Amino acid sequence: MNDSNHASGARGATSTEAVHAGEKRFRAHHSLTVPIVQTAVYTFADTDALVAYSEDHMFWDEPEREEYGRYGNPTVRAVEAKLAALEHGADALLVSSGMAAVTTVLLALLRSGQHFILADNCYHSTLAFSRDYLSRFGVECTLVPPGDYAALAAAIRPTTKLILAESPTNPFMRCIDFAQLAAIGRQHGVTTVVDTTFATPCNVRPLEYGIDLVVHSVTKYLGGHNDLMAGAVVGNGSAVTPMRSLQALLGNIVAPQTAYLILRGMKTLALRVARQNASGLAVARFLESQPKVRRVWYPGLTSHPDHAIAAATMSGFGGVVSFEIDGDAARAHRFIDALRIPTIGPSLGGVESMVSPLAVMGYANVPPEERESLGIRDELVRLCLGIEETQDLIDDLTRALAVL
Ligand code: PLP
Repeated sequence: MNDSNHASGARGATSTEAVHAGEKRFRAHHSLTVPIVQTAVYTFADTDALVAYSEDHMFWDEPEREEYGRYGNPTVRAVEAKLAALEHGADALLVSSGMAAVTTVLLALLRSGQHFILADNCYHSTLAFSRDYLSRFGVECTLVPPGDYAALAAAIRPTTKLILAESPTNPFMRCIDFAQLAAIGRQHGVTTVVDTTFATPCNVRPLEYGIDLVVHSVTKYLGGHNDLMAGAVVGNGSAVTPMRSLQALLGNIVAPQTAYLILRGMKTLALRVARQNASGLAVARFLESQPKVRRVWYPGLTSHPDHAIAAATMSGFGGVVSFEIDGDAARAHRFIDALRIPTIGPSLGGVESMVSPLAVMGYANVPPEERESLGIRDELVRLCLGIEETQDLIDDLTRALAVL
């Protein structure tokens, strides 16, 4: 990104990497693209082959061959290899959704009597699982505000095994100091996990800062086309192995056809993210200059509380801009309904721009007092930019603001 506010020496995954990294050069039938291996079962030529396979194979190893669809599939492995390469990790696991990634990590790494720490502005389903579900199994969770590293260190107990945080967060785009988080984890022997769905490996690679595990909702930017659901966990050494073992029991796998779509989507990841970064910054600056907009949250703006750390660690600031319309719910809804390019929807990261009035999308079931304490006001709007022309998006916003 070529911008004076962007001081980063960090370099995320490039387009060359997105196209080629993790790929084998020569494939079955000389196919350029990775074939969709649509099978549940892999067969053995004879009992000797079966015995040889059983003797020296564990299903979490990099296999010469597969055995059964729930333990692995070549098309899925190709996605995993690319994800690991893009994150500069050793291994990646593809699972059926972003929530499957989060829950598989927590279930695999925590047991009864243990404790973990969660950044308190995390994705609401991650919070619900941590607070309302894991407690049933005797796993305790402490919530800590983002960016408060003293509170984080103070929350660590002898039973603490894991810290989970997101960066940038939804919807206020708070960004983590990965080096500081990793140092706290190392000092206390606690596994650090970050969900960088909003950043992608094109904008930040947390493993390079010493973070143990990276989690993604592949549904968003990695898939990139709003047409599939998947999640991923990436790590170094054998850090992903407990999740791979658990996946074989939970069965939260990805079908080969979906894996193919992910692989195809990931080829253009860096191109898409570059456009979304550019539009994000331009749109955020535009909105900040508008009198009908009360406040804008975007880490590329100097007004954002985490601008300095984002500028130092990220190659771009992403495609999500949150802002408050100066007015009430009715005024915010009038603005949203006047937009012609973004559609109203709950997701992000695809080629189409999406817009959400968050109080009634995602947070509709949260009681108003809790919503208020989370900062989700009725007039808060989350705009998730697609790959449309930046100027067309700004013209559309200009038109919709003029209606107010
Ligand atoms: N993590 C983050 C940061 C998210 O925003 C989401 C979904 O919005 C998830 C995880 C869950 O992903 P999925 O919807 O693919 O289960």
